[in-house]
Amino acid sequence: MRFAFARVLAVLACCVAPWSAKAADQAILTFSFDDSLLSQYRLGFPVLKSRSIPATACVLASPEMSDTPGPRALETKWSLMAWSQVKELLAAGWEVCAHSVTHPNLTQVSERQLFAEIVRPKSIIQQKVGVAPTVFASPGGAFNERTLDVIRALYRAQLGVWWPGLEIAGFNGMKSLDPYRVTRLGVTRDEPTPERVCKYIDEAIARGVWYVLEFHNILEHPNQAQDDENAVSVSALETIAQCAVAARDAGRLRILTAGEALDAIAPHHGAPTR
Ligand SMILES: [Zn+2]
Repeated sequence: MRFAFARVLAVLACCVAPWSAKAADQAILTFSFDDSLLSQYRLGFPVLKSRSIPATACVLASPEMSDTPGPRALETKWSLMAWSQVKELLAAGWEVCAHSVTHPNLTQVSERQLFAEIVRPKSIIQQKVGVAPTVFASPGGAFNERTLDVIRALYRAQLGVWWPGLEIAGFNGMKSLDPYRVTRLGVTRDEPTPERVCKYIDEAIARGVWYVLEFHNILEHPNQAQDDENAVSVSALETIAQCAVAARDAGRLRILTAGEALDAIAPHHGAPTR
């Protein structure tokens, strides 16, 4: 009992001290990319790199991901990044996040598959890029208490995804943050428009929240997206990046990876040691 009480005191001491007015008040924006799509590396990465924006890449620990890129002639818009390309993202300040192995709806799989989809990415990604992910993004944004129980044991946070139309999507209050229920706005072909996302960023700044965006395929030309409603064009990403950078450079916004944002908001929420 005395041991338990001492632990409570230690936890209180650790968690109260790091808060500062600035950390609590200044909005944070995070760009995240799901599904390890090659277009994110080829077309999204340069847009963000030229503006010194780091992002979180939620990759599949999939056997389909090769160690080095395949021939360009065989690329399709659904091609996955190679692990060497994920390493390049990391070298540029990106964070790697886990997004399962085979991308099932985790709320509908067997216990055995649930464990495999959540546990295996940790060691596979560590082995492939030298860094173990500390954040897990649920495939399709589907999670429940059962999936969170497993995720909590291995990761410091869980990112869901909410689709356009839900006004709360992506806004995460910092003072009341549940790191296992982080919401993201999925930016898609038709909505919200990039200009609308810029308005949401302004709203996030006014509210002093952590705002998280999520992207899938990035396409060179908007009209390539006819059969891919989750894709956005390079120019749409550029518009969003540009207004984010304007706010950052004016000292109104921090643009951080999910892990960096968690460090800034709640440093005591470290990754589980298991
Ligand atoms: Zn996904």
